[in-house]
Amino acid sequence: KRMPVVAANWKMNGSRALVDQILRQVKQSGVCQDIEVVISPPATLYSYFDQQRKNDSLEHVFLAAQNINELDSGALTGEISVGLAKESGCQWVICGHSERRSLFNESSKVTAQKFMKALNAGLKPILCVGETTEEHEQGKTFSSLTAQIEAVLHLGGKQAFKDCLIAYEPIWAVGTGKAAPPEMAQEVHRFIRGMIGSICPETAASVRILYGGSVKPENAAALFSQPDIDGGLIGGASLVPEQFIKICQSA
Ligand code: 13P
Repeated sequence: KRMPVVAANWKMNGSRALVDQILRQVKQSGVCQDIEVVISPPATLYSYFDQQRKNDSLEHVFLAAQNINELDSGALTGEISVGLAKESGCQWVICGHSERRSLFNESSKVTAQKFMKALNAGLKPILCVGETTEEHEQGKTFSSLTAQIEAVLHLGGKQAFKDCLIAYEPIWAVGTGKAAPPEMAQEVHRFIRGMIGSICPETAASVRILYGGSVKPENAAALFSQPDIDGGLIGGASLVPEQFIKICQSA
């Protein structure tokens, strides 16, 4: 049985006060005894988060970077390397979030480079994949996902998939309040698991595939009970500690 994961992607939101609140509520609720809880705050909060979780004896609440640069260092004003993220306490890295792809023009190739940087630094990449509204309407979901996953295969080979997570985030469901219906999400997750299995058979049963896109306390249980959905990547609802804890309790 795969260990469920619930990950919070705060995007460009949050504060030190929210770090304190979320850690307090995670601790009080005891949710991280049964699942892996991952928090991805903005980069300015990585070190603070890392310190506070140690102060609270919550070392098993994981810290994820929202993004890294694909290079190790250099004249890249405003960017953060994997080394910097790791030194600040990050253990996981979100790669290729749809907002990076669409708003910052990051290609599947660059996403694959970031993925490999994370892996080679000993951090766990969460590869975000998802189809656009247009692709969804045109029935191109599977071909879109295939291209996004194959970009990592081309750069990293099949071994790349041994210690990663996948997050399926249909773009039409991100921040829209319209989550994918559980059966529809399950069909896509099953497809992704099958694809990972055809690349790297030994990981098909163990790779965790998270669903992201308008997960709320009201729909989390129905999504997480699908056989190939191993948890969620939560945006808006992860900024409200009570909602995030309820979502964790649904996994
Ligand atoms: P929402 O939960 O706000 O739809 O965001 C999902 C997401 O993008 C998580 O990475």
